[in-house]
Amino acid sequence: MQFAVTPCCKPQESIIGYCLRLAKRNGFTTIRDMLSDPVILRLAKGLKSGVFELDALLPDTAPMGQASVRCVLFKKPHSILPRICLTCIAQDNVIPVSHQSPFIYRCDKHNDVLIDTCSHCSHPLHWDVDLLNARCTNASCQRPLGACQSVLPDSLPPQDLSDCLFAGIFARNPHKLSIKTHTFAKCYHIRSIIEDGFKLLTQERRAKMWLAESMSNFSHQLPITFRTIPIALLQRHLKSQNWPANEVFKQLAQCEYNNAAGSNCSVPPLLTHADVAMQLFGVELFELKQLQQFELIITTSVANLNKGVVVDISPVFNALPFNTTLQQMPTLKELMPLLHASNITVGKILEAILTQRLASSYRPSYDILTSLRVDPDCLLELIKALKSQSTLQKLTLSEASKLTGLTEKKLLSLRENGIIKKLPWDHDFSLKFCSYNEIVKLQKAQLTKQMLLQLPHD
Ligand SMILES: [Zn+2]
Ligand SMILES: [Zn+2]
Repeated sequence: MQFAVTPCCKPQESIIGYCLRLAKRNGFTTIRDMLSDPVILRLAKGLKSGVFELDALLPDTAPMGQASVRCVLFKKPHSILPRICLTCIAQDNVIPVSHQSPFIYRCDKHNDVLIDTCSHCSHPLHWDVDLLNARCTNASCQRPLGACQSVLPDSLPPQDLSDCLFAGIFARNPHKLSIKTHTFAKCYHIRSIIEDGFKLLTQERRAKMWLAESMSNFSHQLPITFRTIPIALLQRHLKSQNWPANEVFKQLAQCEYNNAAGSNCSVPPLLTHADVAMQLFGVELFELKQLQQFELIITTSVANLNKGVVVDISPVFNALPFNTTLQQMPTLKELMPLLHASNITVGKILEAILTQRLASSYRPSYDILTSLRVDPDCLLELIKALKSQSTLQKLTLSEASKLTGLTEKKLLSLRENGIIKKLPWDHDFSLKFCSYNEIVKLQKAQLTKQMLLQLPHD
């Protein structure tokens, strides 16, 4: 590959921006006449092309500057789709590498709103020579690109823009039940996604509308916590707690649950990640697997059940006896002290209900614990029966500390980091107990480590 003209790189110029300029200066009207699509993609990722003559000309990749912002949507804060500042184009014919950060909204030099979409034909822009002519890259349009008006305040820090982008994806899909992490950012129409997210996070009315839309998608047969998976996902990953929408979402947790009584239709499939299901039911992975054996949880792929697998959790609700005549029975929440004292888990309760060993009634309320009512006498019988076969023993933290020689503080941090598994029911790490088996495992691991350290080195 030979180039008649080889212009110099400009400061802060992106690799792909330079290649567009190289193509333009050498008379190409489209970069696809010069490079193949896979090579263009590599350049958009900020990687060298693999073409020797070209790589010798390319600028060194400048650091993105926004690396401190972490967003669950992508591993690298680097967009592979183009955005341009019309002033940068007019003055220097340059596309800076900073414009490939998904966490900026305006040009860092001119404060212009970055453009990613043609206002005439609504096509997203793609990497091509016409970007440097400030024209639409859609071959059947090619009209001049116009400046964009902004709805965002003048300066929002990158982490707030990250929140807006994340919220914007939920704003456009109120029924989103899972998040997939991509390596590079590839969001078409990113400007308007950020704007949608900003409106959702800052306008109380918009947040309430979104909430209603999100919840309406779910069956009324479900407890509230199961109807608010998108809200929980959104809240879990927002970096700032100061968005007005957070207040709206918080009120939801306290609202009285008014269910249309007697609606007895079946719950349609409800797909989410296994780890979300574990959290909602308050069960461990092995219990989720037991529910799967009873066909109360259905995996959608042939993969073994693990935390990342998508599962359908609707069969549980379709199997529960929807019953309003047994309302005088206590809820599981009211029976918590008893359940906790006897190490009975929700998984065991569900299993017993479905094998007809526990009389129960289900009426959707706030969460699974407040929605399920069981007969206390039946429960005591079940506890007796299970106690004889139970192997789960627990140790207090001070007992565990004596056995392992570790401080209680160290044990707590091991538990929080998941190195020691927590006990069932211990959802918020508030219990001052550890499982006996876990402590034995830890002891074994410590011994092995000591033995390894004592081995002679040769
Ligand atoms: Zn600019
Ligand atoms: Zn166009």
